[in-house]
Amino acid sequence: MDCIFCKIVKGEIPSRKVFENDRVLAFHDIQPAAPVHALVIPKKHIASMNEAEEEDQEVLGELLLTAKQVARELGIADSGYRLINNVGADGGQVVYHIHVHVLGGDKLGGLNV
Ligand code: C5P
Repeated sequence: MDCIFCKIVKGEIPSRKVFENDRVLAFHDIQPAAPVHALVIPKKHIASMNEAEEEDQEVLGELLLTAKQVARELGIADSGYRLINNVGADGGQVVYHIHVHVLGGDKLGGLNV
């Protein structure tokens, strides 16, 4: 499968890993949009939230709990941070392997929802 994040999972493309277990992987974004910017992905290929199924419930929960751990690991937990999951074209999704952005290290602007 020609998925860039699957290649990162397999080690075919390098990444700066923050955390890894059998089910999830976290790594620094190559084009950081904030002083701290990491991505948390499932090792299983799920294209986006639109393709997530009932059976993915556990790993989707693990993505969020891993994002929390990553925020703590990278020193932004206490000051606060933002978790983002872009879905589809209008959502700004570029890579179609579901991922949670962990952004922080500064006061974040943009949409306040
Ligand atoms: O949510 P969206 O699909 O737009 O985000 C994809 C993210 O993946 C981007 O922030 C991009 O910088 C990151 N990326 C990466 N390493 C790659 C390819 C993309 O960190 N090899």
